[in-house]
Amino acid sequence: MCGIVGYIGFREAFPILINGLKRLEYRGYDSAGCALLHDGHLNVYKAKGKVSDLEHVAETKDIKGTLGIAHTRWATHGVPSEVNAHPHVSMSGQLALVHNGIIENYAILRQRLMEKGVKFYSETDTEILVKLIEYIKDKRHCDLPSAVRMALHQAIGAYAIALIDVNEPNELLVARKSSPLAIGIGEDNREFFIASDASPIAEYTKQVIYLNDEEIAVIRRDEPLKVITILNHEVEPNVQTIDIDLGMLSKGGFPHFMLKEIFDQPEVLRDCMRGRLLPDKVVLSAVENYKDRLLSARRFIIVSCGTSWHAGLIGKQLIETFCEIPVEVEYASEFRYRRSTVDERDVVIAISQSGETADTLAAIEKAKSKGAFIFGIVNAVGSSIARATDTGVYIHVGPEIGVASTKAFTGQVLVLSMLAIALAKAKNCIAQEDYLTLIGELGCIPDKINKVLEQNDRIRELARIFTYAHNFLYLGRGYNYPVALEGALKLKEISYIHAEGYPAAEMKHGPIALIDSEMPVVFVATHHKLHKKIISNMMEVKSRGGRIIAIVTEGDEDMKKIADEVIEVPETENCLVPLLSVIPLQLLAYHVAVAKGLNVDQPRNLAKSVTVE
Ligand code: GLU
Repeated sequence: MCGIVGYIGFREAFPILINGLKRLEYRGYDSAGCALLHDGHLNVYKAKGKVSDLEHVAETKDIKGTLGIAHTRWATHGVPSEVNAHPHVSMSGQLALVHNGIIENYAILRQRLMEKGVKFYSETDTEILVKLIEYIKDKRHCDLPSAVRMALHQAIGAYAIALIDVNEPNELLVARKSSPLAIGIGEDNREFFIASDASPIAEYTKQVIYLNDEEIAVIRRDEPLKVITILNHEVEPNVQTIDIDLGMLSKGGFPHFMLKEIFDQPEVLRDCMRGRLLPDKVVLSAVENYKDRLLSARRFIIVSCGTSWHAGLIGKQLIETFCEIPVEVEYASEFRYRRSTVDERDVVIAISQSGETADTLAAIEKAKSKGAFIFGIVNAVGSSIARATDTGVYIHVGPEIGVASTKAFTGQVLVLSMLAIALAKAKNCIAQEDYLTLIGELGCIPDKINKVLEQNDRIRELARIFTYAHNFLYLGRGYNYPVALEGALKLKEISYIHAEGYPAAEMKHGPIALIDSEMPVVFVATHHKLHKKIISNMMEVKSRGGRIIAIVTEGDEDMKKIADEVIEVPETENCLVPLLSVIPLQLLAYHVAVAKGLNVDQPRNLAKSVTVE
């Protein structure tokens, strides 16, 4: 998820590593570290916080060496701390490794190694890799590349790794699967640069190789690069000449973090499903471990704020539909002060991106004091809310930097979907056929989001037409009602246009009075059983001169005839539709704000994590 940098050559590595980490800062992180090989010693430095904190730690130490690796971490397993920061070192202290990604089967691998006497010092999934590589190397008396190959054979999940060995001062090993890794080749193979993307490399060389999945590069000083697969087949490296505008790279090539995060969604949702969505089942350890407690609840109460509250409204529909458990959704800020009937028979689900939302934390404390069981859905590992809950599921969508939440919302909805499906199965109230259909459909969501993202240019054009508006109405029914609320919130947050979200049928109970030719109305109107009724709602708007933008299911000809503008999303199961229908609304809000020349990533008056009441 975050950043890797490495160097082997003739220059001092430390400044190259630090500059590289700074170039990758846009990816977000919670701690940083580096390892340098100098005079037969491995010097490892780590710091919680910023890359500048790492610089500070290393300032007075030995930072010499022409071979080194460095890392910025966004915790997935174990809290952000110095011990958990990378690089991680082997038992003998001779190997150091950095890793981006998630090793799904780390617990079982760790258990096996512990039985063989291997000791662990951190909570990370990463430490298992370096310990396993050394264990294999010693046991089989093989060279490092072979040990890496065999270890990666056993690892399930996603990784980009870089590894150095005190005994091999001329060698740097890297490998990848599902996490990016680029290698820059210096003149005459005299030096090599590695990084999660080309931005730390571009100022030194234009010759770059992007490793493919399950490839390992053996990088040796003054030798041509060797690439093998984990099955030990040698492959010809594909060297590309890059032409990069360094200015653009600060946000991964996107003009704003928000747009980057919208486009990150297919990939990060895959990360969120990693190890949880299997071909024939959904595995959430929180559900496995607390099945009885969760299923014996008389009701669930979801507490959250803002965008997370909208995700909660979708969660309510999912859990009530599939698990037949009553669900209430409360604003945390109201719940914390209200006299409520919460007690030990309830399960409280707290949703927060940052895990630091003050109102949500206070709501948790209140529910806890009444004996309720607390379940967290959080992005930031080790955050206050994660620590305050009894159990939970991390959304694992990586750091979200744009103030207006996008990928955290879809991550929350995805976790709530998996939770509802897993609980329904545990309760035996879902037919096996429906269970498998939902699992199959969830697996297709990332590709379907990509199809929606292909319409970005069109949505940009559309947004220009509507920048004049002072008010917007967003309407939806069923699962699309919370999506309408979220679309309206996105627009308000970053474009400062007043927008309201309503259940479509509520329109005639008041908001219809606002409709005239100046008022764009966004209908989130994908196909479902109330389709005909939505069409009637549209006609009501149309006959009052309102301009209609409709988010519809691909091929919906009826809607095309009525709406002024149509954005299509692929067909999916009705309960999963929010994961697709919200994407055009995120893009619409983004492009309207950009067209109005506003500061998209840091809108006025808003903070990313609301740590005050
Ligand atoms: N899963 C690893 C950890 O929690 C790596 C996280 C990352 O990609 O930064 O340490």
